[in-house]
Amino acid sequence: EPSDTSEAQVSGAQVIAQALKTQGVDYMFGIVGIPVTEIAFAAQELGIRYIGMRNEQAACYAASAIGYLTGRPGVCLVVSGPGLIHALGGMANANMNCWPLLVIGGSSERNQETMGAFQEFPQVEACRLYSKFSARPASVEAIPSVIEKAVRSSIYGRPGACYVDIPADFVNLLVNVNSIKYTECCMSPPVSMAETSAVRMAASVIRNAKQPLLIIGKGAAYARAEENIRKLVEQCKLPFLPTPMGKGVVPDNHPNCVGAARSRALQFADVIVLLGARLNWILHFGLPPRYRPDVKFIQVDICAEELGNNVRPAVTLLGDINAVTKQLLEEFDKIPWHYPPESKWWETLREKMKSSKAASQELASKKSLPMNYYTVFYHVQEQLPRDCFIVSEGANTMDIGRTVLQNYLPRHRLDAGTFGTMGVGLGFAIAAAVLAKDRSPGQRVICVEGDSAFGFSGMEVETICRYNLPIILLVVNNNGIYQGFDTDTWKEMVKSQDATIVAPPACLLPNSHYEQVMIAFGGKGYFVQTPEELQKSLTQTLADTTKPSLINIMIEPKATRKAQDFHWLTSSKM
Ligand code: ADP
Ligand code: MG
Repeated sequence: EPSDTSEAQVSGAQVIAQALKTQGVDYMFGIVGIPVTEIAFAAQELGIRYIGMRNEQAACYAASAIGYLTGRPGVCLVVSGPGLIHALGGMANANMNCWPLLVIGGSSERNQETMGAFQEFPQVEACRLYSKFSARPASVEAIPSVIEKAVRSSIYGRPGACYVDIPADFVNLLVNVNSIKYTECCMSPPVSMAETSAVRMAASVIRNAKQPLLIIGKGAAYARAEENIRKLVEQCKLPFLPTPMGKGVVPDNHPNCVGAARSRALQFADVIVLLGARLNWILHFGLPPRYRPDVKFIQVDICAEELGNNVRPAVTLLGDINAVTKQLLEEFDKIPWHYPPESKWWETLREKMKSSKAASQELASKKSLPMNYYTVFYHVQEQLPRDCFIVSEGANTMDIGRTVLQNYLPRHRLDAGTFGTMGVGLGFAIAAAVLAKDRSPGQRVICVEGDSAFGFSGMEVETICRYNLPIILLVVNNNGIYQGFDTDTWKEMVKSQDATIVAPPACLLPNSHYEQVMIAFGGKGYFVQTPEELQKSLTQTLADTTKPSLINIMIEPKATRKAQDFHWLTSSKM
């Protein structure tokens, strides 16, 4: 040990860990291996929580959820070549969702580049398409400033994914402590406000609306604008519609929430204020027949390039949603106004909500077995703790579940999102559960999965059990993708011919006991076929906080959604 501190040395791995710590990074998900193992050890040593996962894709989903939930990027640490490539799915998903994320990838040694080195791949180039910043530090000394830039880029402007490439020869390289200067923690993102004249114009368009609607998107959730948006809703008495992950910014059970009249609200609104939601497929592009041709959009977004996409907006408010909502509130303070609660518009919306809730309730009360989706979700909703995270993916499972399961808190719903990604559920659930464990012990994560969706990252059940995370997995099992077959039909089908020839592409093995996966790693598993069994297993698992659990819920293989006004994805072009 040199006594003179000027001769003390640090490794590249330690420099990376210290740089991350300095930038306020608290969570790292990944899989260790050559050449990044030492980075994980160094991070853990500095108090960064390291969660070892089973596939880089799930690790990357988990890290991105940390970014959405905390506003500070989580790190996904991966090995070179295939490790990095597995993580691209997570990067793409984060970038599409506008969620901050920092991927750190080991790469082959610089002096073997182009020689066919172990797991050699053009990683910085590969990540460019999936991120807003992708770079390799020129030296170990340059690591802190590149990491600062990556963290800053991930949260400034429209949030997104960033990549930092670490050549293998940096990791164990020893450098003099004094040669490293740690760049100070980047400042919080600057808050931008909309032009005053545009705010005034927006307020005037809203005042003159006959059938107004606020749409609350996941950008509003990310912006932590819940307090001001709620004020706007209540002060102006406006109907609001949350997008899937905008649910909970204002609670779903708020009297002004018109979620149950979604299609109707979109179709007949004459003024729509978009708070952090893009007019993409989720909102049917803002076009007829799903909207009036003369609807006036007021777009609020932090990203200027988003404004005017697919429609010509009446007013654009470029700025941070929280700040802009406050600006709008100030306008309505100057000249108080609220929308009349006894209007024809409210009547139309309330009527539609009543009838659509009645239709779901009727399906839910069906006593036939196997159960349908509505029966399952009504029983789940009855027992859901109010403060739980709801993670959900699957086709019908996610779509129907969203209409029945209520969110009362902002940033407590995570699902397939803008990119429609299947396989995100377990990674998201793990991230939410790690946060819950740290920040509000006792809080649960309910992860509602279709049987197909569960399969994408099913081995992460081991991760869940290893860290004993407060997760309850519900697998809504219809033996297939979209729809499956019952056991008898399946047996008949494969009796005389090989399954690889006759099995329909959408079917999965009927009657699969997914709960055994949880039992294999020491968690609790339940196989349920009736409403009574479902109720009982939910009660038990909610009471038992010592172990994760999985409830495998068998439903009718041909169960579907209730009748819809519009076919899914209907646009003017179809
Ligand atoms: P949803 O899926 O709920 O419709 P989107 O992901 O399509 O939501 O849209 C979210 C939007 O929010 C993006 O266009 C993004 O630029 C924007 N956004 C993110 N953070 C902020 C913020 N702090 N202020 C304003 N807009 C934001
Ligand atoms: Mg299924």
